[in-house]
Amino acid sequence: MLRVENVSKQFDGFKAVNGANLSVEKGEIVAVIGPNGAGKTTLFNLISGQLKPDSGKITFLGEEITALPPHRICKKGIARSFQIANIFHRLTVFRNIQVAVLSQKNRNLNLTSPSDRFFIEETRAILESVGLADKHGEIAGALSHGDRRVLEIAIALGNEPRLLILDEPTAGMSPEETAGTIALIKRLAETRGLTILFCEHDMDVVFGVSHEIMVMEQGRTLIQGTPEAVKNDPDVQRAYLGTE
Ligand code: ADP
Ligand code: MG
Repeated sequence: MLRVENVSKQFDGFKAVNGANLSVEKGEIVAVIGPNGAGKTTLFNLISGQLKPDSGKITFLGEEITALPPHRICKKGIARSFQIANIFHRLTVFRNIQVAVLSQKNRNLNLTSPSDRFFIEETRAILESVGLADKHGEIAGALSHGDRRVLEIAIALGNEPRLLILDEPTAGMSPEETAGTIALIKRLAETRGLTILFCEHDMDVVFGVSHEIMVMEQGRTLIQGTPEAVKNDPDVQRAYLGTE
C-alpha cells in the first residue's frame, strides 16, 4: 500500500531523515520506533506532504506521491493526526467531525447556511466508532486530554482514509486512556479495514498491537520486521532496547 524508498530530508545541513525505507501492507498496523530526534515525525511529514523530501521516492497504491501537496495526498486516502492535538476548540465534538466530513465531500462550512443538516448520519457513525457518541454536544476545548486525542483520530476518519497515520497517539495519556486508544486502533483496523501507521514511545503498546515494526535511528531505517524479528535483532538490542 505504501512504500518509502531511500527518502532523505535535511534542515540546514542536518539530515533529519537520511535514506529511510518503509513498507506498509494493506490492513496492517505498522509502528515506527526510535529515540527522540530519530526522524519519526519528519518521516510522517514527508509521507503526508507537509514536507518535501530532498531525495527518494514515496508511492501509495502504486502511484508516486513524492512531494505532492498535502491536500492532494489527503484526497488519495492518507489522513494523519499530529503530535500536538489539532482541533476546533470552540466547536462541539459533533461539529468538529462534521466539518471534516463536509470538507471531504467538498462542501464549505458556511456559518450562515444550514450546513448543520448535512452528513449527520456519517458524523454519528464516526462518533460511535470511536466511542465519543455520548459526548457529541460537548465543546471540544473542554474535553479531557485523552478524549481530545480520540477526537483528533475521529476528525482524521472524516476524510475517509485508507491509511491513517498517527503521531504518538497515546502521548500524555493515563494508562486507562492508553489502553482504550490501543483498543480503538485495533478495532478501526479490524472493522473499517483501515491500515494504520503510527509512532509510539510505549514499547508494551508497540509490541502488543503491531504487525510490523520499523526501527529508526538518526534518520535511517535500522530494520523493519515482525515484532519477533525486531525484538531478536542484535542491532536493535544494542542501539535501542538495551541489551540485558
Ligand atoms: P522524532 O519525531 O523521531 O522525535 P523529528 O522528526 O521530530 O524526530 O526530528 C528529527 C530531527 O530533526 C531532530 O533533531 C529535530 O530537532 C530536527 N528537526 C525536525 N524538524 C525540524 C525543522 N523544521 N527545522 C530544523 N530541524 C528540525
Ligand atoms: Mg516526533
